[in-house]
Amino acid sequence: MTIELADIVSAVEGNWQSQLNWLKRLVSFPSLRGKEAPCQDWQARDFAARGWSVDRYTLAEVEMAHLPGFSPVMDTDYEQAVQVVAALRSPQRGGRSLILQGHVDVVPQGPSEMWASPPFQPRIHEGRMYGRGAGDMKSGVSAMVFALAALGQAGYAPAADVYVQTVTEEECTGNGALSTLGRGYRADACLIPEPTGQNVLRGTVGVMWFRLKLRGRPAHVSRSEHGTNAILSAFGLIEAIREFTRELNQRVKSHPWFGKLENPIKFNPGKISGGDWASSTPAWCEVDCRIAVLPGTPLADFRRELSEVVAKAARRDAFLANNLPEIEWNGFQADDYVLEPGSEFEAAMRQAHRAVTGAEPRETLLPAVTDCRFYGRYYDIPSLAYGPSSTDGHGFDEFVELDSLKSATIVIARFISDWCGVRSIETSA
Ligand code: ZN
Repeated sequence: MTIELADIVSAVEGNWQSQLNWLKRLVSFPSLRGKEAPCQDWQARDFAARGWSVDRYTLAEVEMAHLPGFSPVMDTDYEQAVQVVAALRSPQRGGRSLILQGHVDVVPQGPSEMWASPPFQPRIHEGRMYGRGAGDMKSGVSAMVFALAALGQAGYAPAADVYVQTVTEEECTGNGALSTLGRGYRADACLIPEPTGQNVLRGTVGVMWFRLKLRGRPAHVSRSEHGTNAILSAFGLIEAIREFTRELNQRVKSHPWFGKLENPIKFNPGKISGGDWASSTPAWCEVDCRIAVLPGTPLADFRRELSEVVAKAARRDAFLANNLPEIEWNGFQADDYVLEPGSEFEAAMRQAHRAVTGAEPRETLLPAVTDCRFYGRYYDIPSLAYGPSSTDGHGFDEFVELDSLKSATIVIARFISDWCGVRSIETSA
């Protein structure tokens, strides 16, 4: 059984206003880390109302520490980290099963007054929807949900099992995606509609988070030469890691995939705290950092090399040499991932994109991570990201291009109908 592309297009068009309203509601949830539960609860109710079978659980309920790809966390309450998996199970085993996954966690908005309009009050202007998460990646979540809705509207359901998963922790560990695998969900492929600009995402680098913890010796600032300053000492370590990053970007040039990117190894000291008093030299400093992992390097080897860079820099400092800084691995411990060309899954995605847009999709490599790595790298479930166009998801005035959202929704619906097959759900009254 097949479904005409024209029927998919008219169903997506017919639902378009409700898709926009749905996305606005989703973006209005300030689903920052640790605060995703109301957003996830809303989705669980919405999925149940669509007649899908909903599994709602928290990360505290799933044993994950022993699973490949697990990232350690501190200071986060996993009792509050709600995950949602909605199953559309097919009574017949027609085509191939599919996981559609999106993350609903968003990164902090920064100073809200720097936004043209409030980040959690989505607004549409000149073909774009603005708001934190509008691009990364709540629009993609709307695309996968409304792709399925369009099939239903046209009188069809997937002929194979489809799991619609909305997870958290994508922006910091990936443990939300990992939990769905730990809980036992599997399929023949996993599509993640991250905002790729309707390109096929070929691969991602690895990423590591770590916290540098330094000590200083406090002294009254008037006699600061008798103390040390942990904040200034941190600068020295940061400079050493930046130098290391430059070296890694030379080494990556020989990598078959990531050598194509210019300087894909990015290092970011992203959050700093330290000191207790303006007139005392600071006795402590902590810096939360993110660095890309050199592709092909085992994470344990990379941690060892990075630790050595930090220790070497510390030994050049008289105080730090005797009070070596600590490194806490807190967050992403993410391997790189490449979906090698030639999979049936990619061929079907490309075919759907061609059918809808008339053109071959381009492919991209990302100097960052997505959740695709869990499926493709550890569980042998081919996984790629394909979704609408957006700006840099972590900046001010984040937006999604609505034309591309509609197009991606149609492509995904077409892909589902090709990959899973369809069965008629017309009631035979
Ligand atoms: Zn994302």
